[in-house]
Amino acid sequence: MKITVTGGKGGTGKSTVATNLAIALSKKYHVVLVDADVECPDDHILLSTNLENEEKVYLFKPKFDYSKCTKCELCIENCSENALLKFKEGYPLLMPSLCSGCRTCQLVCPEEGAILDDRRLVGYTYHTKINDNLELVTGKLEEGEERSYPTVLAARRRAMSIPADIHLFDTMPGTGNHVAAAIEDSRVVITVTEPTPLGVHDLEMILKLLKKLNLKAWVVINRSDLSEISHDEIVEKYNAEIIAEIPMMDEIMKSYVSGIPVVEMYPDSRASQIFANIVKRIEEVM
Ligand code: SF4
Ligand code: SF4
Repeated sequence: MKITVTGGKGGTGKSTVATNLAIALSKKYHVVLVDADVECPDDHILLSTNLENEEKVYLFKPKFDYSKCTKCELCIENCSENALLKFKEGYPLLMPSLCSGCRTCQLVCPEEGAILDDRRLVGYTYHTKINDNLELVTGKLEEGEERSYPTVLAARRRAMSIPADIHLFDTMPGTGNHVAAAIEDSRVVITVTEPTPLGVHDLEMILKLLKKLNLKAWVVINRSDLSEISHDEIVEKYNAEIIAEIPMMDEIMKSYVSGIPVVEMYPDSRASQIFANIVKRIEEVM
């Protein structure tokens, strides 16, 4: 079963919820936690573990053989990313950072061998075995790379190739295609938000996406005692459900600083009870 933890914006405590849930679930189930927040993966930090078994993620890049190019410009005209410019001499010139690797230029080129296969490094995936019941797959972007989608897909593929009772995804913030790639096929999507005007706004964005994808939506309100702002109207509008409210607690702060999830550091705390209740809700949809 696939479950996803997401959040409309960064800094809502999404990774804290994902790592604590992963630990709590792994007491009974074999769990693969997938850190698909490829721009800023931090689940391994929250779990005090290392990134291991690195694999590189490459994306197709066209390589031009100008001796075979007739300067017809078809590749330039058909590149939807505007990644190809016309050289002074009339030959196409690639702007690598704009290229999506879609291969359209190669498909439309009428000259055999004028566009060859090359590749560029866009990211990495890692696989860390934490214990017999918990494994962590992490996606991480190459420094300076802006295209996150291929690395999210690679992390997803690697994680799904590992047999487990539960694949628990921790996505990037936002509602782009990198998030959609991580949440599709989820039995349930848990959105972590906070009671601020921006939190409510971003929650609506993500709930809209989940409704469009016809996915079951649960909401966790983190730092729930931060203000009186209510999420009820938005949650009702999108047929979602608030399954937990996590107030600010010393135990959570201390565990965060120590790099030990609160469910391990303070197993009998109120915070741990909240995560135990979320596990029960997950078991109801298994
Ligand atoms: S692979 Fe796609 S994005 Fe890249 S240059 Fe070719 S057409 Fe443009
Ligand atoms: S489509 Fe092929 S032949 Fe035409 S400009 Fe591009 S590389 Fe050259």
